[in-house]
Amino acid sequence: MQEKIINDKILEKMTLDNVFKIFNDNIFPMLNDEEVEYCQELESFCLELHPKIDKSKDVYVLFPELGKHGYMQRINKWRDFEPYGMKKEILLATIMSICDPQLELARLASGILCGNPTFQHGDTSEILKVQDELMSGKEVGCIGITEPERGSDAVNLTTTCTKVDDGIVFSGEKVFTTNGPKAKYFACYGVYDTEHPRQTMVQGMLSRDFGGIETKRLKINSVPRVHIAHTFLNDVKVPMEYILGDNGGGYHNLFNGLVPERLGIMGSGVGICWAGLIYAIIYTNLRQQFGKTVINYQGVGYSLGDLLSKCSAATSLAFQAATIYDDKILFADKPSKEAEKWVAGVSSQGKYLLSKLTHEVCYEVQQQMGGVSVTDNTPVDELMDVSKIEEVIGGARNIQLLILHGGLRRYSKIL
Ligand SMILES: Cc1cc2nc3c(=O)[nH]c(=O)nc-3n(C[C@H](O)[C@H](O)[C@H](O)COP(=O)(O)OP(=O)(O)OC[C@H]3O[C@@H](n4cnc5c(N)ncnc54)[C@H](O)[C@@H]3O)c2cc1C
Repeated sequence: MQEKIINDKILEKMTLDNVFKIFNDNIFPMLNDEEVEYCQELESFCLELHPKIDKSKDVYVLFPELGKHGYMQRINKWRDFEPYGMKKEILLATIMSICDPQLELARLASGILCGNPTFQHGDTSEILKVQDELMSGKEVGCIGITEPERGSDAVNLTTTCTKVDDGIVFSGEKVFTTNGPKAKYFACYGVYDTEHPRQTMVQGMLSRDFGGIETKRLKINSVPRVHIAHTFLNDVKVPMEYILGDNGGGYHNLFNGLVPERLGIMGSGVGICWAGLIYAIIYTNLRQQFGKTVINYQGVGYSLGDLLSKCSAATSLAFQAATIYDDKILFADKPSKEAEKWVAGVSSQGKYLLSKLTHEVCYEVQQQMGGVSVTDNTPVDELMDVSKIEEVIGGARNIQLLILHGGLRRYSKIL
């Protein structure tokens, strides 16, 4: 804290422990016994980690701590870490976001965006080694889809792939590569033929050790502890053992990967919403003006009630989507095509709704808390900053709506 102005009696109550108490009061009734126990363990871990977090340092020093406890991701089973599945991943993202929203952003990029494809599409010993390094938090991973001239239009990539005797050469440029400047591994997409990107897309796990990868850090003020790159792929030769989807397989992997990615972002969003709201609940229950605690003024209390309703509704959607993903897709003997279609759509709905809600909650609670919330005396301004990028990562607002619009137009076929 650069300069403290918050009242000591309020500050001593603005603890992560108290935030979890209020969070649990709202969330645990929605969970089964196994999920409650999982959350309690995760919260204990966060309570131990939190005092060790140095906000002047990058988040990456914390990755090995997450890795030791199997918290780099929880969709897939890694080593003996249980329970696992999409619901556990959403809960991990939620609780980690409450603890440290910037750490959560970087974890999601390394553990899910780069890590999940190693479980879904990698069966070589080389990929299993990458997986171990990422999951243990010893190495950092990232994903390279977006290019300077290809943002929302993520299919028509300009990064090219060329087959050589013993591998595939990637040449091109990526931008907004979260974790890029710190990463050893880059899950990247390119195409053999820019005229036929769907049929020729390739997904490869590129390692810095292959040579030819250059990263330059972008200045993004809202997440100063996360490094985000402009990435140059200068004829990076990738051995076949590191190719996760060849000749059109990359396109299939790209779109399958976007579903868990968006569900994961929903989890991070749930955490930002609850953290912002709960710090406001604590503060306004203790801050006095005109001889009353400010939550007693309806202008403040009703506004928090409005946000509470929205947070509960958005959380229910995220949990329900994750439960259906687990029951009907991830753990089902035969994944349901109907559920896959529904989850693909609902992950866009939820990502759209929740990322926007993070911003609304943080902005509104700052108005209800007053000046102190825009200083570093409370965690709310950091949450506000992270909320700024939630809508653009994982596909901008209009792209979620474009996907939903496509689904709506298909109904003409069943009429
Ligand atoms: C902090 C941060 C981290 C990121 N991390 C990663 C990462 O790790 N890896 C990665 O690959 N990418 C990453 N991204 C990139 C992110 O996915 C893109 O920014 C996003 O897909 C939008 O692309 P764009 O920024 O180029 O915007 P553009 O595609 O240029 O869009 C500009 C505007 O046009 C709208 N628009 C575009 N097409 C349509 C359409 N058809 N209909 C209606 N509106 C449209 C968009 O909604 C937007 O409002 C990150 C971005 C940020 C800001």
